[in-house]
Amino acid sequence: MNTPKTNKPTPAPAKKAPQPLGLVRGMRDILQTDWPYWRQAFDKAQELCDAYGLDRIETPVLEETPLFVRGVGKQTDIVEKEMYTFETAGGEHVTMRPENTVGICRSYIHHGMFNQPQPVKMWYWGPMFRHERPQSGRYRQFWQYGCEIIGEQDAVVDAQLALLAWRFLKDLGIDSVVRINSIGTPESRVNYRNALVAYFRPKRNRLSEDDKRRLLKNPLRILDSKDPAIADLKAEAPQIVDWLDEPSKNHFMRVLEYLDEVGVPYQLDPFLVRGLDYYTQTVFELYDTSETEESAQSALGGGGRYDGLMELLGGRPTPAAGFAIGVDRVVSKLKNIQGGLPPKKVDVFVAQLGEAGRKKALAMFEELRMAGLKVGESFAKGAIKAQMDIANRMGARYTLIVGQKEVLDGTAIIRDMDAGTQEIVDARKIVQVVQKKMAQALPLVNTGTWAQPEVPPEQGAQNS
Ligand code: AMP
Repeated sequence: MNTPKTNKPTPAPAKKAPQPLGLVRGMRDILQTDWPYWRQAFDKAQELCDAYGLDRIETPVLEETPLFVRGVGKQTDIVEKEMYTFETAGGEHVTMRPENTVGICRSYIHHGMFNQPQPVKMWYWGPMFRHERPQSGRYRQFWQYGCEIIGEQDAVVDAQLALLAWRFLKDLGIDSVVRINSIGTPESRVNYRNALVAYFRPKRNRLSEDDKRRLLKNPLRILDSKDPAIADLKAEAPQIVDWLDEPSKNHFMRVLEYLDEVGVPYQLDPFLVRGLDYYTQTVFELYDTSETEESAQSALGGGGRYDGLMELLGGRPTPAAGFAIGVDRVVSKLKNIQGGLPPKKVDVFVAQLGEAGRKKALAMFEELRMAGLKVGESFAKGAIKAQMDIANRMGARYTLIVGQKEVLDGTAIIRDMDAGTQEIVDARKIVQVVQKKMAQALPLVNTGTWAQPEVPPEQGAQNS
């Protein structure tokens, strides 16, 4: 007789546990604990834009690469080194938007918005992408809230936009100052550009490699230089305000007068030129006033007039102005100002005991919520003590307790969390009962303590 072979399975080769994947450099998660701050900022943007008559627009994250090359400018940092650009499987050359103004102008042209009553006032909120060196307050995906007023050249629009940007920060509790300058029309800038080159050229050897390149390609950008070694050089450099033509000077004076009128604090900054090519006339940036000059390296937002942009993009000449605010930076300030978030507040908490109680409580939650009450729950918890702790943390004024007995009787226990008293009420009239109590109740003084409710022992035991 043959001895049966034991058919032992050969052990599978030991699998390497997969390594958890990290974040792409420069990207980050906006967590649940962050969101309440983001929401405050978003709600404020929405509220102000409604009040100032701006409508929301949303353009795609992906645009054709030439849009940014033409609009933002070939010689800008953004286009030279910061764009997320790639070729799609279909052979299209696309870029993840590094900013939104040119996308909105493309949309204005594409949809023939020049046929609408002018100006067209729009606002946006969304992620932008720049392949910059990540550091504090600088991400590769970041959010901007921005406003654009297209089709109006009057200086009042520039001032209104600066006011709106400043007001947004102010209402969120951030005191800011508008640093402002005029870079005139492209024509008036040609002479200034020549004066600037004539000034810096003999001092070339004191410039960094980056600034030497700027001198050749885009001399105004030297004024943007953060190189401390040339701070004194810059201070002596010709100032653009002295080179402005009369209409540009007038425009700028009027913007400042309007800002005086509405009490927006501003500082004249002769070196402010902004990094993008499309600006004309007014340029401005907003800085937190609680920061010193040195620490205020990064603006909270910036904007200005861009009368020539629409033509660069193939549209008809259309004056326009706008601003963008960095939401990531605003939110980080909000967090510092407000400290920890207050706990979620509810009017009534629905606690349950046992399966029948949970079913009833689930329906009761929905009924109360539909009636407009703020309701809390922790249905996955069984123990009454754990549920009451959560109710306390949520600052619930009342807690409803529904166990098996209450389901059978068609009742619920309602507990006044502050007084520690409780009574049995008709479950069918639960909305009216809670609403009546809420209307009669004095403002709640939540001591944060919880006295054990008088639940029948068999129910409490069954669920703890
Ligand atoms: P800009 O379009 O460069 O004028 O930027 C407008 C605002 O967007 C800045 O003042 C910042 O608050 C914000 N911002 C720009 N780049 C970044 C970035 N890489 N990370 C976070 N915020 C940014």
